[in-house]
Amino acid sequence: MLISNKPYPRKNTHQVDVNWKSHVVSIGGSNPVVVQSMTNTDTADALNTALQIKELYLAGSEIVRITVNNEESAAAVPYIREQLDKMRIPVPLVGDFHYNGHLLLTKFPDCAEALSKYRINPGNVGSARSRDDNFAQMIELAARYNKVVRIGVNWGSLDQSLLARMMDENAARIEPLPPEQLMYEALIESALSSAHKAVELGLPANKIILSCKVSQVQDLIAVYRAISQRTEFPLHLGLTEAGMGSKGIVASTAALSVLLQEGIGDTIRVSLTPEPGGDRTREVLVSQEILQSLGLRAFTPQVIACPGCGRTTSTVFQSLADNIQTYLREQMKVWRGQYHGVEELKVAVMGCVVNGPGESKHADIGISLPGTGEAPSAPVFLDGKKACTLKGERIAEEFQAIVQQYVEERYKPTAKQG
Ligand code: SF4
Repeated sequence: MLISNKPYPRKNTHQVDVNWKSHVVSIGGSNPVVVQSMTNTDTADALNTALQIKELYLAGSEIVRITVNNEESAAAVPYIREQLDKMRIPVPLVGDFHYNGHLLLTKFPDCAEALSKYRINPGNVGSARSRDDNFAQMIELAARYNKVVRIGVNWGSLDQSLLARMMDENAARIEPLPPEQLMYEALIESALSSAHKAVELGLPANKIILSCKVSQVQDLIAVYRAISQRTEFPLHLGLTEAGMGSKGIVASTAALSVLLQEGIGDTIRVSLTPEPGGDRTREVLVSQEILQSLGLRAFTPQVIACPGCGRTTSTVFQSLADNIQTYLREQMKVWRGQYHGVEELKVAVMGCVVNGPGESKHADIGISLPGTGEAPSAPVFLDGKKACTLKGERIAEEFQAIVQQYVEERYKPTAKQG
């Protein structure tokens, strides 16, 4: 039997198109997994929100969610959309609604129109008495404006009346489910029953996406494995409250990678808590890196760099690896529109002769820098063959020029739009 290095085939889900005018992002079906992000500006501050959306889009976010929590933010949404259109940023916007979405969408029709998708949390649509009516009102508005809805259930705001009913039913069982199993079932039931209710209310099934977010890795994997067996609605994956810095990145990567490898998930968001003044686009880059590391999508040329060890006592090698990584990311903004397939380029930057030449030969372009005590020269490999040897103070600049030339010669220019 052949040993496979591919993820399992994607679970069957139907396609949902999220669009802004003629710009369409297709989620589910056989489409690539879509990268999403969310702003952290005050939506009422329309200009700064539009600028952050632009940054997220340019970083690669294919859909951007914004909080719509009060009248000021609902009033700002059309203006944000207008600013984006003026900047030629066609990214579809998702309105994140809790508690008062039915009121805001009704009172601000321009907001309802400017959004491409509404996120509805069935646990946060109102009190026990008004919940069904409020939910129905939002679904009817989505149907009227021809918008997509994400039914986004969250562990922290689970529909309490549904949970209470399920607890009562569980208590009456001969063999009750353990509490954690009951919670999983309640999350899934909340998402599925809300989706079916939305269809009954007139929202087409191909306008619905589901999510069941939790904050622990094993819980997320368990819930999504189960729900993916029970529905064909596309699934949005994300670990909620993943945390800051490396903790958030590692936890999200661990959870999402397991599910994506199993063919589960049609769109992802990595929820990172930024450090004060931190860059919001980091969550987009992490999503892209997860998908590219798994071989599901390619976004930017990859740098394969050895970790360095006692054989590399100088920092030349770290600086070159960093320099090349930054150079490739910057160049991609230009290359993306010029060279078809360049995002699949692999560049190896290695620290010494032990693995350097071997790893460099496996990449499209590789450089093996001299380790401590080795001759001060750096052989460069193109397509597995030694092409030249760099020496002296300008290795970084000369290597960049080689990369540029390789890209120009190897990748076909992308046809210009007429
Ligand atoms: S390639 Fe050389 S410098 Fe890099 S980790 Fe391996 S032995 Fe160390």
